Amino acid sequence: MQVNCLVLFSGGLDSIIACKLLQEQGLGVTALMFITPFFGYKHKGREAKKQERIRADYGIEARIIDISDEYLKMVANPPHGYGRYMNPCVDCKILMVKKALELLDTFHASFVASGEVLGQRPMSQRRDTLQVIEKESGAKGMLLRPLSALYLPETLPERQGLVDRSRLLGLSGRGRKAQMALAASFDIKDYPTPAGGCVLADPILSERFKRIFAFGSGFNVNDCLLAQVGRHFRLPDGSWLVVGRNRIENQRITSLLSPGDIRLEMKSLSGPTALWRPVDGILEEASLATGILYRYVRENKGPSEVVLTGPMASRQSHTRQKILVVDGPIASDLLEKFRF
Ligand code: SF4
Repeated sequence: MQVNCLVLFSGGLDSIIACKLLQEQGLGVTALMFITPFFGYKHKGREAKKQERIRADYGIEARIIDISDEYLKMVANPPHGYGRYMNPCVDCKILMVKKALELLDTFHASFVASGEVLGQRPMSQRRDTLQVIEKESGAKGMLLRPLSALYLPETLPERQGLVDRSRLLGLSGRGRKAQMALAASFDIKDYPTPAGGCVLADPILSERFKRIFAFGSGFNVNDCLLAQVGRHFRLPDGSWLVVGRNRIENQRITSLLSPGDIRLEMKSLSGPTALWRPVDGILEEASLATGILYRYVRENKGPSEVVLTGPMASRQSHTRQKILVVDGPIASDLLEKFRF
């Protein structure tokens, strides 16, 4: 009977190689691609398409799984702290291994594997951290790292003969030459660059996430997605204003409107779309919000009208429109005061 395993799959080269090494030994491999608002979320709602792409490109069966709820609970206060930016890599790995362990029965799998390489990353792939991840996830010998296995203690699947240790690797460090040669040997030509797709490790976005996580009212998936688009302002009443920088961002902002949000657009001048997220539905800073929006209109700077669309009072759930006259754009120094 075929032995099955689950492999944590970021889509990067190391995780592809981990899958191929285990497939080569005759194991049934399911690649688990976890997504959150910080990585992989573009595949949300298009899971089947991405899974098909992975199958076509690499011959790997993948499952895309949204772990946003658990992730958001962890990311605001990760027990092992953050890396250089807002990336909680150790706790991120612990959470993913835990989720994979929970799914073993579902996929009739015997163990979990990952593409981690000893010494490749300063925070999450040191020898001691690899042990912490295994211990705190509850994996206890059930977490195989095929790329660095020869430098690590034997795991249960190796001891039980489910995996042939002699066919595993002893890679370490940051170099990618060996992985690239292995990719070529598996006839894999297209794979992502190592830059990674995790916005928590982005120097600019991570600053914004830091402020959002510190903000007392909590945050949800939509907040984390909204943080990744447009120009941001926190107004004195605590409300949040996001102004699009181009047509694509205007569309994205519109798609992220949630109940209670107000959309702002100039009535007769062409300009950006803004999303205004008031606190408790109170529109106290309407003149400030419209003045900021007007700042990004190129034409005529005389008095003009702004259309506000959304619930116009805290108890209203239905959408209404209101037109406000704005005298002119807010002054640059004042604008900077509210930038978020
Ligand atoms: S870079 Fe992001 S996705 Fe990768 S381990 Fe760190 S927190 Fe997780």
